[in-house]
Amino acid sequence: QVRVRFAPSPTGYLHVGGARTALFNWLFARKNNGKFILRIEDTDTERSTRESERMIMNDMKWLGLNWDEGPDIGGEYGPYRQSERLELYRKYAYQLVEVGHAYFAVYDKDDPKKLLYKTEKQPETDNPYTIVFKVPENRTLSFDDMLKGTIEFSTEHMEDFIIVKSNGYPVYNYAVVIDDYLMGITHVLRGEDHISNTPKQLLIYEALGWTPPRFMHIPLILGADKTPLSKRHGATAVEHFRREGYLPKALVNYLAILGWSVDEEIFDYTKKIESFSPDQISNKNVVFDYQKLEWVNGKHMRLLSNDELYAYFEEWEKFTGIKSDVPREVINICREKVNTLKQLYEFVLPFVDDKYEYSSDYIEKFVKKPEARSILSLAIEKFEALENYTIENVEKTLRVIAEELSLGTNKVFQTIRGALLGKLVTPGLFESIVVLGKEETLKRLGKTVD
Ligand code: GLU
Repeated sequence: QVRVRFAPSPTGYLHVGGARTALFNWLFARKNNGKFILRIEDTDTERSTRESERMIMNDMKWLGLNWDEGPDIGGEYGPYRQSERLELYRKYAYQLVEVGHAYFAVYDKDDPKKLLYKTEKQPETDNPYTIVFKVPENRTLSFDDMLKGTIEFSTEHMEDFIIVKSNGYPVYNYAVVIDDYLMGITHVLRGEDHISNTPKQLLIYEALGWTPPRFMHIPLILGADKTPLSKRHGATAVEHFRREGYLPKALVNYLAILGWSVDEEIFDYTKKIESFSPDQISNKNVVFDYQKLEWVNGKHMRLLSNDELYAYFEEWEKFTGIKSDVPREVINICREKVNTLKQLYEFVLPFVDDKYEYSSDYIEKFVKKPEARSILSLAIEKFEALENYTIENVEKTLRVIAEELSLGTNKVFQTIRGALLGKLVTPGLFESIVVLGKEETLKRLGKTVD
């Protein structure tokens, strides 16, 4: 049975690169009816926090990347938090010492960097000591990476390395081996920044007499300048995109097509499980394109029914703490021109909040024009007289205003549009007036001529 894992260190938020690694593991597990395990690698006691762990899990749930075993739900191979597995790391480290693959290094109490002596016997001292892995000399080892082919390395320039620190905590390269083995992990899909760690891990597998899993190292996501994507390039936190009003399936769709050649560009990833195969993952570097992501999101938003979109919008408002109480018909007329839920919110805002300001281009191009006053006064008169606010009636009324004043429809429409909604880019003017209704339309027009 395929067993894969996502093993974040809880030292910050979930990064889009991490989410993409999690996604490929998730797809691989689901495709093979295997298990997807979440393991929290919190051995860096200074930087790991429960808060970060909680954020990472929330973001993964939001993305829909559910796990079968993990610290919150348990499982047969737990615990799933490394800080709760210290006994296991200790046990195998002692085993390594026993078979001659590791030794103790004892340090000065007052100067913990100063090595006093090395020994293969349990030190009877209250000085701090570590357990160090003994790297064999002049060995050539290799592994067959599922993406990169055979990778060889020699131990010639490798130095012995600490596996258990003096505080009893293991280092990453050691803990990852113990856990992947004991948790029955069959495939390790991770970022290619870990290729250089693999030799150390393989040496530990070998020393313990364990067969290593298959490895697949995935190219990293880069920024526009071809350096690994980081905050310098823009936001990278999954939570940021959630806050900006991206749909989880759109974000996952974009991460999926970053380096996975699928037959189509816009899809629901939960329906692509069958066609996923790790050999379709590209070995080339991929560049994160914020605009493309926004475009993908717009596509997903337009695929939703009004009800679905409204549900996502409500969820987004709840998440961001915004409460606009926007009527559904406003959402329906605003949705076509926007790419994110936040843009949708900005679009609907003037409908629910009449304290909008006039945009500067509206003031410059229309309000300051001599005919503005006559357009607005006549509009008040005509819309006052209009009883039945249907799209057809509203359109007719607007055209009559233009005709009576002998002005172009664009000038008339834009002057009224800005007066009603504060800006020149809004949903269709006729629909907007219908949705605002008579009372609100007159109130807003009146405000401009005052
Ligand atoms: N905790 C490691 C990281 O976050 C996991 C690496 C691995 O998958 O082996 O990079």
